[in-house]
Amino acid sequence: MKKIAVLTSGGDSPGMNAAVRAVVRKAIYNNIEVYGVYQGYQGLLNDDIKKLELGSVGDTIQRGGTFLYSARCPEFKEADVRKKGIENLRKRGIEGLVVIGGDGSYRGAQRISEECSEIQTIGVPGTIDNDINGTDFTIGFDTALNTIIESVDKIRDTASSHARTFIIEVMGRDCGDLALWAGMSVGAETIIIPEVKTEIKEVAERIDHGIRRGKKHSIVMVAEGVMSGESCAQELAKYINVDARVSVLGHIQRGGSPTGADRVLASRLGGYAVELLMNGETARGVGIKNNDLTSTSFDDIFIAEAHKFDHNIYNLTKELSI
Ligand code: ADP
Repeated sequence: MKKIAVLTSGGDSPGMNAAVRAVVRKAIYNNIEVYGVYQGYQGLLNDDIKKLELGSVGDTIQRGGTFLYSARCPEFKEADVRKKGIENLRKRGIEGLVVIGGDGSYRGAQRISEECSEIQTIGVPGTIDNDINGTDFTIGFDTALNTIIESVDKIRDTASSHARTFIIEVMGRDCGDLALWAGMSVGAETIIIPEVKTEIKEVAERIDHGIRRGKKHSIVMVAEGVMSGESCAQELAKYINVDARVSVLGHIQRGGSPTGADRVLASRLGGYAVELLMNGETARGVGIKNNDLTSTSFDDIFIAEAHKFDHNIYNLTKELSI
């Protein structure tokens, strides 16, 4: 392995820069040249590829977003279009590609390794949603979680002052982990997530119960994958007469300087991706399980059911917010 490339793709997440930095430094340490592909698969098609040096990733570990930029590139799903991207790697003699992104990005990487036996591919899980199989945590999840906590702590101050119910809509696509972990961290009365069917009538009863036992405010955490905060408020109004306000945290959840946990995770996973390439591995996604580095074939990542959901955490949040 003499030359590899790295790209970030799909939705960006805090810690992607730290992962790119780890890939670049680990590779150069092992006498491997590294190329950065700008704008994800779009850059691969446009031949927007530049050699990266040790200094190229200096002063990036603390930055949110991705200095390689990310993009969605729907054309990359077409085999004829992909040929061009693969050719842009081959003409430089690039033998390994590290793709940092979500499972859509992994699918692109899988296709490349299927269609070109000379290029090995490794996926690194970069998304705030924590929705990728084969890892307990994705890069960016912890930072987004902390951003939500910080925001809700502020909302809670005003909620208490006015004895209000706040409905907080958080990201996560079809995965409830952000809502679940944030809900536990802020002491939400109710957490509404895709993995557990929740009756709004029951949510209304919990809020009512809280008010009657003297609670000053209620926080309802709703994952975007179930419904919007606004719909939740409308449904609640059918059962209970409370002063409910909706807060949609939106894209602030994707930004910010990565937390220590995300920087360490990104560094470990980025370094491990290079190790796997050096060992001749391909079509695998790296991850962390029980704090150990691990890797899983893309095939297994795709066929597994949704990212493992922790029912114990969910049940405990219910017990702690009565
Ligand atoms: P994420 O990686 O965050 O899940 P997307 O699902 O948008 O984000 O995927 C990112 C990019 O990966 C897409 O814009 C496309 O270029 C590529 N991609 C997604 N699915 C496929 C596929 N089935 N085949 C080839 N490339 C794909």
